Amino acid sequence: MSSPDRVIVDMPEVSFQLPSDAGLAQPVARGKKPVPKVVASYRYGQFAPGKSRLVIDLGRPAVVLATHAIPATGGYELIIEMREADQAAFAAAVKRASQEAIARDILADAPRGPAKPRDGSAALPVIVIDPGHGGIDVGAQASSSVQEKDIVFDFARTLRTQLEKTGRYKVVMTRSGDVFVPLAQRVKIARDVSADLFISIHADILSDPQGVSGATFYTVSDKASDREAARLAEKENLADSVAGLEGSDDAGDVSDILFDLTRRETRAWSHTFAKTLVNYWGEAGPVNKNPHRSAGFRVLKAPDVPSVLLELGYLSNARDTAALIRPEWRGKAAEATTRAVDSFFTNRAGSAATGKADNK
Ligand SMILES: [Zn+2]
Repeated sequence: MSSPDRVIVDMPEVSFQLPSDAGLAQPVARGKKPVPKVVASYRYGQFAPGKSRLVIDLGRPAVVLATHAIPATGGYELIIEMREADQAAFAAAVKRASQEAIARDILADAPRGPAKPRDGSAALPVIVIDPGHGGIDVGAQASSSVQEKDIVFDFARTLRTQLEKTGRYKVVMTRSGDVFVPLAQRVKIARDVSADLFISIHADILSDPQGVSGATFYTVSDKASDREAARLAEKENLADSVAGLEGSDDAGDVSDILFDLTRRETRAWSHTFAKTLVNYWGEAGPVNKNPHRSAGFRVLKAPDVPSVLLELGYLSNARDTAALIRPEWRGKAAEATTRAVDSFFTNRAGSAATGKADNK
């Protein structure tokens, strides 16, 4: 923030353990012309219920390079790396920071259904499992008795059981039986429960199989990663019209800076989770040779919920189909997914301390 120039660090409520004179401005020796330090002084304390704040008064303009919270005896050591900067660089940093702060406030104020307790420990992360298709929309079909909607529902139920068994998550399903749910409704369910993670479950089929097999993990992107991903997104996006609904792209092109900031962060986390899934699935079963791809899947478009679409395998591949209908395979695959979810939330909790997502 500028005028006066300062760095503000917001944190969850913190019990500060610092000497009582920490952060006080140093008295200037008599008769000397003061040369301001970068950090002139700092103060800290509770800022609002459940929130603490650190304010660093700058003697000279500086920008924050990174923050780290490192476990130390009896708590954490907070390290803020700063570099002295010229006025232009400082002004640019101020502008960026205030835009991010506004985006955060807007998101915090946005009506998002039943409020989650924000006291941290009591609130379990909410995972929304989205079994694709259902009801009138059967999805891909290997035969009249082997249909995507049933395979993905059975897997979703197994996954829900395993996630709930850990006691670490609250799990919500977008459909609880063989019913049709529009794509936009699936996204809305995730947003209404303030989901922390959205996992959409599907199974693919190719008219020209050529031995293609294995699980594939998709994230949303404006431009498809490859032709196959574009084809698949187009097909999955048709789910609404299969059921006779108008297939409209409700989100449209939003070019709002605040929206973009949130979406960028969400997409970074979606990528992180997809990569984690690839790693854990490698131990459980066949993974496609190009396992992480992206395209414009409508069901993954919640701007504030990290979302991944998991194609369990190909119903056009005899070996995949044989595996997908076996309860033993479901158990193993759900276990791999649960371990990936665990890893994701551990990673995320660690990054929350430093405020950094994996921005790749
Ligand atoms: Zn599908």
